[in-house]
Amino acid sequence: MTKIGIVGLGLIGGSLGLDFRVQGIEVVGVSRRQTTCDTALIQGVVDKASTELSILTDTEIVFICTPLAAIAPTLEAMLPYLNSQTVVTDVGSVKVPIVEACSTLWPNFVGGHPMAGTAQQGVEAAQTNLFQQAAYVLTPTTSTSPDAVKQVEQIGQLLGSNIYTCSPEIHDAAVAWISHLPVMVSAALIEACINQEEREVLNLAKNLASSGFRDTSRVGGGNVELGLMMAKYNRQQLLSSLEQYSQSLDKIITQIKQENWHNLKKILQSTQQVRPDFLN
Ligand code: NAP
Repeated sequence: MTKIGIVGLGLIGGSLGLDFRVQGIEVVGVSRRQTTCDTALIQGVVDKASTELSILTDTEIVFICTPLAAIAPTLEAMLPYLNSQTVVTDVGSVKVPIVEACSTLWPNFVGGHPMAGTAQQGVEAAQTNLFQQAAYVLTPTTSTSPDAVKQVEQIGQLLGSNIYTCSPEIHDAAVAWISHLPVMVSAALIEACINQEEREVLNLAKNLASSGFRDTSRVGGGNVELGLMMAKYNRQQLLSSLEQYSQSLDKIITQIKQENWHNLKKILQSTQQVRPDFLN
C-alpha cells in the first residue's frame, strides 16, 4: 500500500492519517473546511490536503470518515476521481443504511467500523495508536469483492486492530447494545441528575462526583452529533435495546420497592459475574 485517501479529517480520519504516515504510506486528505486542511497539514496527519475530492486521483484505498449523513453523498461525489481498482471503505458507526447505499454506488466498497474513539472531536483530537488493540469490524455482503475485503483487513491489521467480520445487520444489533444504548443511558443519567430540584443537593453532588460518575457519564457527555446520528441511523435496534433496558431497570426498581434484598443481590451477583465477558 503506497497511497491512501482520507475524506473527513476529524478525530477518526485524523487518527488514521497519523498511523498510516508512521507506516510510510502517503496520505492525501480531503475535508470540508480549508482551516481543517491547514491544521491537518500542520499536525502531520496528511502529506497533502484539499477541500477538493480531485486530490484522491491515484489513491489505492479511500477511507470515508465524515459524519454518517455525508458518507454516501461523499462517495457519489468522488466517483469521477476513482479508478476501477480503488477500494473504498468507511468508518461509520452504523452499517446497514451505509452499506446499502454505498455498495450500489461502488462495487469495491467495504463497510467498516473501527471501534475506538474519545469524547473529543475534530482534527485537533487526532492521536496515534487510537486503533491499537481495538476491534475493527468489517461488514461485507454476499456481493462484496473478497479481494477488497482482504485489503481493508490488511490495513486494519497494520493499525494493530483486532478484525471481526459480520453482516451489517448483526453489526448494528450488537453495537446497539454495547455502544448506542450506553450513550443514551449515560445521557439519561446526567439529565436525571441535573433535573434534581434541590439546589443544595445538586451543588454538593457536583462537588462529590468522582470516578464512578466519570465512568458512567463519559459517553453521555461526548460528541452530540454522533449520538444523534446513532439514534437516527440505528433507530430500530436502539429502540429495541432501550426497551429491554427499561424492563431491566423496572425489575431493579421493583426489588428495591419491595425491599427484596435477596433478589437484588442475585441480580448484582449476576451482573458482577458477567461484566468481564464484555471487557476481556
Ligand atoms: P469528527 O471528529 O466530527 O470528524 C468529522 C470530520 O468530517 C469533521 O472534522 C469535518 O471536518 C469533516 N466533514 C464533515 N462533513 C464533511 C463533508 N461533507 N466532506 C468532507 N469532510 C467533512 O467526527 P469523528 O468522531 O471523527 O466521526 C467520523 C465518523 O467516524 C462518523 O461516521 C462516526 O460514525 C465514525 N466513528 C466515530 C467514532 C467516535 O467515537 N468518535 C468511533 C468510530 C467511528 P471540517 O472541519 O472540514 O468540517
